[in-house]
Amino acid sequence: MHRVTAIILVLAIAVSSAAAEKWARICSSHPTNEIRGCDAQGCGGYNNPRGGRKHRGVDVLCEDGSVVYAPFLAKIDRQTKPYGNGNAIDNGVQLSGSGFCIKMFYIKPVKYSGLVKKGEKIGVMLPMQRVYQGIMSHVHIQNCDLTDPTPNL
Ligand code: ZN
Repeated sequence: MHRVTAIILVLAIAVSSAAAEKWARICSSHPTNEIRGCDAQGCGGYNNPRGGRKHRGVDVLCEDGSVVYAPFLAKIDRQTKPYGNGNAIDNGVQLSGSGFCIKMFYIKPVKYSGLVKKGEKIGVMLPMQRVYQGIMSHVHIQNCDLTDPTPNL
């Protein structure tokens, strides 16, 4: 085998294993990351319909008031708001690191900058039941490039 070919192979393996890295548990009320099924308000999977559009993220089940954890070692880039209307769940963060960039919605973050370790508390689940009664409360997670995050859960 040529030396260059060998180096390319090693790099390809390194990149693919980084992309396949599993995220940490996201919510204290659930021992594993569980995607919201369908309820009266809709369904929580990637590409599920949202009116005339598609859901470009995943909804990870999380009871109101639960502790939310960082899924990977990351830098918190900034605050990000899903609606911008100031309702009870209009808060979140964007974070990047470990080969990922995501937005997490419907949490009250503990901070808006600095580092978080994988599995460290990043916030608290906001009172979603007050805004959408009967919904399965969840953290919405979307990749910054809007690709499917499901394989990392
Ligand atoms: Zn969602």
